[in-house]
Amino acid sequence: METDEYYMKIAIEEAKKAELLGEVPIGAIIVKNNHVIARAHNMRETLQQPTAHAEHLAIERAAKVLGSWRLEDCTLYVTLEPCVMCAGTIVMSRIPYIKYGAADPKGGCSGSLMNLLNQPDFNHRAQVESGLLEEQCGDLLRNFFRKLREKKKSDKRAILNHESDLLE
Ligand SMILES: [Zn+2]
Repeated sequence: METDEYYMKIAIEEAKKAELLGEVPIGAIIVKNNHVIARAHNMRETLQQPTAHAEHLAIERAAKVLGSWRLEDCTLYVTLEPCVMCAGTIVMSRIPYIKYGAADPKGGCSGSLMNLLNQPDFNHRAQVESGLLEEQCGDLLRNFFRKLREKKKSDKRAILNHESDLLE
């Protein structure tokens, strides 16, 4: 049996694949009986699809693999805390265990803004563990957004330079 860190590192590999596509680096995998049955990364920009979050895609793939919408006895590892949609999808697919890396104070619905995974009135509750390889998961995102800001700045400078060339 592998450790949680082992599995989260695979999710981090997925996040890096997203980054190579220019996507926000978020990755997710689903494990059942110590086997990785699905892996996915954020594809929102590539597909221009609002639902193409890493964990949402991983859940769809796992359901296909199992031939069932009920993902019982599965554990979802995801690098960022699930959002409102993904937390909803987790409830709908009955995944019992969620382990995430970095918290999302602006959009997380698995403990930060609210916890949809632990609502007494829902017919399903998931056990959530946060902060697994938190720093590595968070660094991926922080570095991505820092590079994006730097690129925006240098693009702006290029445009300003170009404009001043035209004025001369
Ligand atoms: Zn999501």
